[in-house]
Amino acid sequence: MRDGGHALLHVSEKPGSADLSSPPSLSPSCAAASTSILLRRHERTVVDIDRADLGSCTASTHVVSTSSTPGTMVQHLHQIPSGDQDLDCVLTANREWAAEVAAENPHFFHELAQGQHPKILWIGCSDSRVPPSQICNVDPGSLFVHRNIANVCPHSDLNLLSVVQYAVAELKVEHIIVAGHYGCGGVNAAMDPHQHNGAIDDWLMHVRDVYHAHRKRLEALPAGEVRAKLLVELNVVKSAFNLAYMSTVQSAWACGQKVAIHGWVYRLEDGILEDLGLMLDGPDKIDEEYRMFPDDCC
Ligand SMILES: [Zn+2]
Repeated sequence: MRDGGHALLHVSEKPGSADLSSPPSLSPSCAAASTSILLRRHERTVVDIDRADLGSCTASTHVVSTSSTPGTMVQHLHQIPSGDQDLDCVLTANREWAAEVAAENPHFFHELAQGQHPKILWIGCSDSRVPPSQICNVDPGSLFVHRNIANVCPHSDLNLLSVVQYAVAELKVEHIIVAGHYGCGGVNAAMDPHQHNGAIDDWLMHVRDVYHAHRKRLEALPAGEVRAKLLVELNVVKSAFNLAYMSTVQSAWACGQKVAIHGWVYRLEDGILEDLGLMLDGPDKIDEEYRMFPDDCC
């Protein structure tokens, strides 16, 4: 039994190059955001856009030198300070990181630019404290990522369906990890029907569905953290089974492609990922009524 005393093993899903030295020519249809991105492509640029001029899309630019004085670069941003309107600290930190990576492996970015070959599709919560590549300690290019509040996997989410299709059918990932995390604000909010947060309440209805499906089991536990932890785990399990029901995943299995869906949970307190012991790697792991293809279809 793990921390918290509620390991969730053997769970069934069922209830129970721009010349920047001169002002650019901008099309009338451009937007301020894309203008800024365009102008920042090759060097740090301050863009002054008079909001009154946005209709005609005129802009004036001031080029700021990209060279940094040795010793003045930010090594690592522990906090992004408020008031840095241009987020220069983030751009500086980015350059420091890129320089460090290139110094360690001069071919790294060139090789990565040739294409991606991740073995894992990561589906996790949008929470800023759970950055996938960082907590898995893997390089860019290792994880194909989809995140949303409370790592929900609804059958009708076109965004999610597209990500899963591309990851499984095109990238041929071998693993899909659904990663929840204890202390999830989305899960906590879903446990309180009296919260009114707008559209997020509609999204979190998926988690409330999980709560109601396992209500007896959840309410047998003391209210608060222990109950919330179990709901986090049950929500991961629900998402994992929903993924297993998707046509993309079942088509892959039917054609002999190896894809395993895993349920993991991350602990904010110590940075540890736990495997819930759930792995769905074939149609035999889901109920017959959900199977789309006969055993010998391919
Ligand atoms: Zn969360």
